[in-house]
Amino acid sequence: MSEKYVLLDRDGVINHDSDDYIKSPEEWIPIKGSLEAIALLNKNGFKVAVVSNQSGIARGYYSLETLNTMHDKMQRLLAEKGGHIETIYFCPHSPNANCNCRKPKAGLLKKFSQEKNYPLQDIFFIGDSLSDIQAAQAVSAKPLLVKTGKGLKTISKNPTLNIPIFENLYDATKFILQTTQF
Ligand SMILES: [Mg+2]
Ligand SMILES: [Zn+2]
Repeated sequence: MSEKYVLLDRDGVINHDSDDYIKSPEEWIPIKGSLEAIALLNKNGFKVAVVSNQSGIARGYYSLETLNTMHDKMQRLLAEKGGHIETIYFCPHSPNANCNCRKPKAGLLKKFSQEKNYPLQDIFFIGDSLSDIQAAQAVSAKPLLVKTGKGLKTISKNPTLNIPIFENLYDATKFILQTTQF
């Protein structure tokens, strides 16, 4: 395979999360080291795609246009560090819409796989919530958990998780670079 991908959840992995949702570019604040981590992945030949639940759209907390301005900010700050996110997949639906794309369902992962013609088996998917882990496991991807965002809560609620756990995205990234052979 000439190119390799890593998949990332957004809130709580790349940027600080909030129980009140991230509703504006002003509220989109990167976690220390996360942009550098993505740039490091890129530098080592990995493309990065984001897979994110954004039910705040269905809830009316922010518009699709505002979500795009948040992502413009993310890409702009990332470009300053020499990094780039290839594609952003998100679910705009409410939890009771019963869509196929809201994690823990794997619809967004499958969409990524189809669009990029890229196998999901063994791809790293870094998240902070049980729904990230479950979505990854549903398609035989490799979930990695970070303690940022909801990570610590996820660990305390699920003490028997048998997956690698890291302080943050930067540490998870170093693990990926150490364990991946091109
Ligand atoms: Mg998250
Ligand atoms: Zn959806």
